[in-house]
Amino acid sequence: MSSNTSIKQFDISIVGGGMVGAAIALALSQVGLQVALIEKQAPPEFTPESAPDLRVSSINLASEAWLTQLGTWQVLAQMRLCPYQRLQAFEQPHSIVTFNAADIKRSHLGHIVENNVLQLALWQQFGANLTLFCPSSVTALEQSADSTVVTLDTGEQLSSKLVVAADGGNSQLRQLAGIGTNGWQYQQACLVALVNTPYPQQDVTWQQFTPSGPKAFLPLCGEQGSVVWYEEATKVKQLAALSPAQLTQQLINAFPVQIGEVEVVASSWFPLARMDANRYYAGRVVLAGDAAHTINPLAGQGVNLGFADAKLLTELIIDAWRHNGDIGSEKLLQRYQRKRKPANLLMMSAMDGFYQVFGNDIAPLRTVRQLALNVAARSMLLKTLVARYAVGSE
Ligand SMILES: Cc1cc2nc3c(=O)[nH]c(=O)nc-3n(C[C@H](O)[C@H](O)[C@H](O)COP(=O)(O)OP(=O)(O)OC[C@H]3O[C@@H](n4cnc5c(N)ncnc54)[C@H](O)[C@@H]3O)c2cc1C
Repeated sequence: MSSNTSIKQFDISIVGGGMVGAAIALALSQVGLQVALIEKQAPPEFTPESAPDLRVSSINLASEAWLTQLGTWQVLAQMRLCPYQRLQAFEQPHSIVTFNAADIKRSHLGHIVENNVLQLALWQQFGANLTLFCPSSVTALEQSADSTVVTLDTGEQLSSKLVVAADGGNSQLRQLAGIGTNGWQYQQACLVALVNTPYPQQDVTWQQFTPSGPKAFLPLCGEQGSVVWYEEATKVKQLAALSPAQLTQQLINAFPVQIGEVEVVASSWFPLARMDANRYYAGRVVLAGDAAHTINPLAGQGVNLGFADAKLLTELIIDAWRHNGDIGSEKLLQRYQRKRKPANLLMMSAMDGFYQVFGNDIAPLRTVRQLALNVAARSMLLKTLVARYAVGSE
């Protein structure tokens, strides 16, 4: 372990200031822990005229409740977010199953939020107990029995009791900590496009299941929306290479009639991977969010799982800190892993089952699928259960 006296001391260092890392940093600094946050790129400024981020997420009610507790939701509401009251699933556009917020006595089922706007809302709340190192990244990690030191590319060294790796699916910190992963790349990829729609702001998000993969619509503020088109990876890459006008035409041809006469403004594509870290901590490094797990985005759960990690981890740390305990103890990190790993794995496996049943054209599965949608269409109980699951309630 380095003995340099110019090492800066913190209670905790967090690597990655995306949605999950920034939320952890905020929650801990708000109560008085001294937090170092290391991020390689700051989120862009926001104005009401800023073009929407192509990366959007469906934020469920459980995440909304925690972000409200942090004061972030109130900041976000001043910027841009789009609530939805209905969630629709179908194979044929004339045979739709609708899940309503009213069925579970809620005003909405969730919100579609731009990733960089939510990240910025968290950053805008950073206060005195948080020291931001940005743009910066980690070049080395040293651990001893009771502390850690990270070295930054600027040469600075930060010592703390615990390092949180929240640096995304390709987490460098996870590798530096020697934590391996399990998982695979799906054959499908997804194209995401920002579109202008011919309709006023919509209150519905829908997903059509087809043998080649789902096609989804997520409403954004005003007349805009985000479409997600899952297909075999080579086809997605071909679609992504088209001009906006060409892609508009392809999209209108391939999507169900509900999409309307949309116009593509911008697009990008994303590979789809499932990844599960073999363990969630090693020594005094703990993983959270995509650094610990990446999930098929089919049902929009990735960052919601990340916020659930963040909420539990920060509660355990704050509790230990208030009782003068060790915030990086193995006991604490074990409790975190014991609760979050099975919950995240369950959701990942559920999404994979869903992907198998709804994403292919094998005749028996086609029947199961149709049956499931028919039953769902008729059963209020089932619809209520699905709606509860979608909003993230227990
Ligand atoms: C197409 C698509 C659609 C999705 N839709 C949804 C949805 O509807 N709902 C949902 O809940 N989830 C969704 N997800 C998943 C969601 O985007 C992720 O789960 C979420 O972004 C994870 O947040 P994070 O903060 O853990 O990681 P990231 O968003 O990856 O953030 C990591 C941060 O760490 C920084 N960083 C990386 N490396 C370093 C380093 N070495 N040093 C310093 N900083 C570093 C990065 O710059 C970044 O800011 C979707 C994903 C995809 C691909």
